[in-house]
Parts: sequence; structure tokens; C-alpha cells
Amino acid sequence: MRLILLGPPGAGKGTQADVLAAHYGVPHVSTGDLFRYNLRQGTPLGLEAKGYMDRGILVPDDVTGRMVADRIDRDDAAPGFILDGYPRNLVQGEALEEMLRARQLHLDRAVAVDVPEDVLLARITGRRLCPSCGATYHTLYHAPRREGVCDRCGAELLQRPDDRAETVAVRLGVYRDETAPLLAFYRERDLLTTVSGLGSVEEVAARIREVLHD
Ligand code: ADP
Ligand code: ADP
Ligand code: ZN
Repeated sequence: MRLILLGPPGAGKGTQADVLAAHYGVPHVSTGDLFRYNLRQGTPLGLEAKGYMDRGILVPDDVTGRMVADRIDRDDAAPGFILDGYPRNLVQGEALEEMLRARQLHLDRAVAVDVPEDVLLARITGRRLCPSCGATYHTLYHAPRREGVCDRCGAELLQRPDDRAETVAVRLGVYRDETAPLLAFYRERDLLTTVSGLGSVEEVAARIREVLHD
């Protein structure tokens, strides 16, 4: 199963990608998570990405593309992957096509998660991340058992610096201008399915399962 999840920031792509990855037994490949991991480890890639992420704009396509290629070439991605956060513009859409063609692989589907802006803002504002294991929470919709503490590993939860209001506005603009054109790109290739991202995590997951026919 090779799937991509499209949708604006806060739509629930990462949350649904986790569910799908467990269901299909393939890795959840999130470019945002990979950049944040590199940033925590202090790698050159992380340091390069930081300036862009802090401003809410896209990291350059060549850097991002190399990172994705390295990730999908790892053994665990041989049976497939759930790509979350890539591609994010038309150049990356073409690059992914080329990457797969060179490996004689193809994409099974692009699932676009559709959520109105007021709901996106509510989801982003309450999002909290575990810096240690990467788990995602929400202060209201998916609260940890102990406030501010990760259920899985006990680390203190943080708000992503780019989830503050000023940067969120930039990211929504980047989505509209650069990422949304990918909807037509995948529609032309007969790969696009749009689902509503409203409702509980389970409701959205059921909707996605339905369009994937299993
Ligand atoms: P979101 O919650 O908006 O989906 P992500 O965690 O996917 O956020 O991305 C956070 C930041 O990481 C982006 O604002 C951007 O700076 C960088 N990033 C993630 N994926 C990509 C990509 N495919 N191309 C360029 N930059 C990316
Ligand atoms: P994205 O990867 O698209 O940026 P996330 O999966 O990180 O989005 O979800 C954004 C926030 O909304 C997180 O705090 C997450 O816990 C929460 N969330 C995700 N799906 C739902 C849902 N169906 N209902 C309510 N909150 C949700
Ligand atoms: Zn944790």
C-alpha cells in the first residue's frame, strides 16, 4: 500500500496516517516529523530546515526530496508507506512521481482530508507534541491522562513553535497557494479521493477505510 495524505495543517493527517500505518503494516512517513527529529538531533539537515519551519514556509524541494527518497529506500518501507506532508507543491508531486518511476513503484491513492478553517484553528491551537517519542495530543480532543505529560513515555508535552497564531496564518497561506494545486494534479491522474475530516478520529478513519475498500 502506497498512499499519500493531503490536507491543510491541522486536518488530522498525522493522526490518520498512524491509524493507516498500523492497519496496513507499513511505516508512517511524515516529512514534518523527520525534520523535527533531525532538529532535535542537531543534524545539519535539521539546522537547515529550522529557519524555514520557524517561519512557516517550505523547506527547499531538493533537500526535502532527498530526505524522502532515503526514507522510502529503507527496508521497512519495501511493502509500502503512508506519506504525510509530502508532496507539498507541484514540483514535489513531479519529483515523487519520478522517484517512484525509477523504483518501478506506483502510488495507490491520494487521500485529501477536508476540514474547514475554524476547525483547523481549534485543532492546531490545542495540539501538543511529545518531544521524546513524537506522540501527538490535543488539550481538549485527545488529552493525556496527566496534563502536560506524555502517556507513552512520561516526557513533558510541548506546543510546536510553528503552531502559534502568527506562523499558522503563514502556513495556511502556503497550503492554499502551493499545496492545494496538488488536488487537481492527483485528480487528473485519477488518484484523488476527498474525505471529510470532521468528526472523531474513528469516524474519519472509517471514512478513509471505506474509500480504500477495506
Ligand atoms: P502540518 O501540521 O502543517 O501538516 P508538518 O509537520 O507537516 O505540518 O510540517 C511542518 C513544517 O515542516 C512545514 O511548515 C515546513 O516548514 C516543513 N515541511 C514539512 N513537510 C515539508 C515538505 N514536503 N516540503 C517542504 N517543507 C516541509
Ligand atoms: P496534521 O498532521 O494534519 O497537521 P494532526 O494529526 O497533528 O494534523 O492533528 C492536529 C490536532 O488535532 C492534533 O492535536 C490531534 O490530536 C487533533 N485531531 C486529529 N484528528 C482529530 C479529530 N478527528 N477530532 C479532533 N481532534 C483531532
Ligand atoms: Zn512521549
